[in-house]
Amino acid sequence: MLNKQGRPTQPAESSTEIGQGSETYSGNKGLNLESPLIFEQGLDGRIGVDMAEPKQVESRLGSIARKNPIGLPDLSEPQVLRHFVRLSRQNYAIDSGFYPLGSCTMKHNPRINEKVARLAGLGDLHPMQPTSTVQGALELIDSLAHWLKTITGMPAVAMSPAAGAHGELCGVMAIRAAHEAKGEARTRILVPESAHGTNPATAALCGYKVDAVPAREDGRMDLDAFAEKLGPDVAGVMLTNPNTCGLFESDVKKIAGMVHEIGAYFYCDGANLNAILGRTRPGDLGVDAMHINLHKTFSTPHGGGGPGSGPVVLSDALSAFAPVPFITHGDNGFDLVEHQEGQAEKSFGRMKGYHGQMGMFIRALAYMQSHGSDGLRQIAEDAVLNANYIRVGLDDLMRSPFEGICMHEALFDDSSLKGTGVTTLDLAKALIDEGYHPMTMYFPLVVHGAMLIEPTESESRQTLDQFIGTMRYLLEKAKAGETEMFEQAPRFAPRRRLDETGAARHPVLRWVPETDEEEEKLSQAS
Ligand SMILES: *Cc1c(COP(=O)(O)O)cnc(C)c1O
Repeated sequence: MLNKQGRPTQPAESSTEIGQGSETYSGNKGLNLESPLIFEQGLDGRIGVDMAEPKQVESRLGSIARKNPIGLPDLSEPQVLRHFVRLSRQNYAIDSGFYPLGSCTMKHNPRINEKVARLAGLGDLHPMQPTSTVQGALELIDSLAHWLKTITGMPAVAMSPAAGAHGELCGVMAIRAAHEAKGEARTRILVPESAHGTNPATAALCGYKVDAVPAREDGRMDLDAFAEKLGPDVAGVMLTNPNTCGLFESDVKKIAGMVHEIGAYFYCDGANLNAILGRTRPGDLGVDAMHINLHKTFSTPHGGGGPGSGPVVLSDALSAFAPVPFITHGDNGFDLVEHQEGQAEKSFGRMKGYHGQMGMFIRALAYMQSHGSDGLRQIAEDAVLNANYIRVGLDDLMRSPFEGICMHEALFDDSSLKGTGVTTLDLAKALIDEGYHPMTMYFPLVVHGAMLIEPTESESRQTLDQFIGTMRYLLEKAKAGETEMFEQAPRFAPRRRLDETGAARHPVLRWVPETDEEEEKLSQAS
């Protein structure tokens, strides 16, 4: 391993150290290099660029000026470059391999998107430019809005939310504003048990009591339990469709009718729109608000904090409450306005500093236009076909908790591992050794030891066969009692199994100095 100066010290000995399990002197494995944190690599006085010593000027910040150095490491340019290139090589992505992470829809991002997003006229835009200089950009947002409304069959769309969860916030804020406009203070939001965690979190953040609705034997929301929970204090329901068990909520229209009957609103979590694109329009199902994760349905890379975008389509009942700004198109071209003429002032306000995630808008529109409506429909068909191909390819070895065909993701429980000593987690770690990003584990919570597998629709039959073959190999090993490979997995990854409980219970959120010199440096910086 390397010491704080980036020089090799002793070979890694114990299995708890960095580079654990490696038998090399350096701690590196092949051409995968072990790297200390960038803060540990700094050496006083090392610099990346030559610049003249700045003149000592008196700070005009007065009492709020920083009194001590900021504590950034001193590094050369090659050091910085190598550090981030190394990190990027440890990052698993849909561009490097099969990524069947359920509920996340890892999309292939066609390179044409990147080419278009980098065109100078688009890539160099600034959100504070006068609208007269960004007519094309506003037209682009307007065109994308048109596509989204057409695809979903909804009359309005709020473009600014920055991701799915932000879109949920937008939708529930619109619902709250609509109730307030009627002078009603409703307090409860119904959320199925299988919902993504962001649904109850959003409802709670908006001040609502979250009331969980159980699932039926067949994985859909229990209609009887739902009907019992309806009442005049219910503000709305948040339903995911297809749901997080990968199943279409076949009673969705009935549910919408029941919700509307009591004067409440139907929020649909649209994160799984990829599965029904061009086949079903949420507007025809009675939805009042639905976020669209552009990054899950209309390409672009995501995950790891990457950019998202979560426009929210709205029904006539909610459109007046949409967040500002609006894009209008009049005699003088496109404009961004806070208030639309002839409309009452009902918007609940602003959600974001500017108008949305422009880079994502460009990629999503490029994706839609390059696919066309027939191509978009085929995406949904291929997504469902791929998931069912995996489901059937494994169904003699693994149990699906719900019968019948699935939508875009195949769900299994851990009953096939019973008695083997191998857990869902072990199986996932063994998949890493085989070169696969694991499926989603232990979610949805309603299924014991859940494994949620979502193959990207652009994966070929060969890739799916290879994955199915790997899963079958691992399951057969587990059933044959060959558990050592699971206990030690992942054996070939840059890191062995992490102490997840320790990390959650005793998080180390700051660097702990080891020498007096470091101690002094830290006390100066803080
Ligand atoms: C991903 C996802 C979300 C949250 O979307 P983000 O863009 O990650 O904020 C919400 N609901 C479901 C069902 C999801 O899969």
